Amino acid sequence: MTMTISTIGILGGGQLGRMLALAGYPLGLRFHIYDPAPDAPAGHLAEHIAAPYDDMAALEHFGACVDVVTYEFENVPVMTARALERFVPVLPPPTALEAAQDRLVEKRFFQTLGIPTAPFAPVDDRVSFEAALAQIGLPAVLKTRRLGYDGKGQAFLHDATAAKTAWNELGGQPLILEGYVAFARELSVLAVRGHDGAIACYPLVENLHRGGILRRSIAPAPALDPEVQALAETYARRILEALKYIGVLAIELFEIKHPPRDMEGQATQPRLMASEMAPRVHNSGHWTIEGAVTSQFENHLRAISGVPLGITDACGYAAMVNIIGELPDVAALLALPHTHLHLYGKAARPGRKIGHVTVCADTREELAGRLARVEEIVEQ
Ligand code: AMP
Repeated sequence: MTMTISTIGILGGGQLGRMLALAGYPLGLRFHIYDPAPDAPAGHLAEHIAAPYDDMAALEHFGACVDVVTYEFENVPVMTARALERFVPVLPPPTALEAAQDRLVEKRFFQTLGIPTAPFAPVDDRVSFEAALAQIGLPAVLKTRRLGYDGKGQAFLHDATAAKTAWNELGGQPLILEGYVAFARELSVLAVRGHDGAIACYPLVENLHRGGILRRSIAPAPALDPEVQALAETYARRILEALKYIGVLAIELFEIKHPPRDMEGQATQPRLMASEMAPRVHNSGHWTIEGAVTSQFENHLRAISGVPLGITDACGYAAMVNIIGELPDVAALLALPHTHLHLYGKAARPGRKIGHVTVCADTREELAGRLARVEEIVEQ
């Protein structure tokens, strides 16, 4: 197979776009970034069109410059992706964007594929909120259906008072109420599907969130039951095939270690529930740059370029720690062995992901020691 694609257009110019470009240069690829923000981090590395997502003339020009368009954040307007499809292939297919942009559509999509989720109910007004509370019960989580990320647009409802406060805060827009899942831990699976339908999955990753933001990932997830890996891969495969997906897809999962049992001893909850999916490369896959045979970024590019996928095995053990809000002592981090620093060229701001650190090791014990030191420096 020859690589006929040489120029890739990326909708969105954040750090994911930047890391896609960095992975693509060794393959001889070129990049054009489309992002309304003039200082988009990926714009430092590639041709950058800074225009609104509904600027048809700018989109047409962008489409004419590239062989294929992809996206690096899931809130790109579906209209934009569809408009570009008239000039150039858009991968993953925009139907994946549609499915991922609305939490209710997404949960129903999981349901149709037999993928377990937390119980959920739509909330459009006060009456449906009361009905959803009666159906789901407390504790629960109230979320905006659209544009929520990094814990924004959601509230945890532990009691009736919290429910009232959450309604006052979030009411008046399309919402979803989800049952609170007392998960043992959060996992994610990254999977990639090529033009020829070949699918490869990375080992599951254990993720730690605080305040709704990913803080740390450990890969492969420690003490993982191979059955759970297989289950996650089955779910990923169903989604990829249903969407005729091409590229990398991430699915965030809740693992329930000891599902409650009924009187007959049957588990009343599945071992794994899908929380949400991202039709793009993902923060919980950053470890793959140094920690896997082929990074998620390279595999996404291989997939959308129509060349064979790379091996997704881990090379030993890895952990990734996000740098959020402010720059840590960079020299102290770089003094640590087997530690890799990635800074995104973004201004420091509270709650903003401005970089990440990946640490690698040959054993779990070695990884734990190195990770503790990295976290100490990052959190100082
Ligand atoms: P999300 O934006 O939906 O990924 O939610 C951000 C984080 O909130 C998740 O990673 C979980 O830690 C937590 N969370 C979201 N939904 C639920 C739920 N139904 N039950 C328990 N925790 C949740």
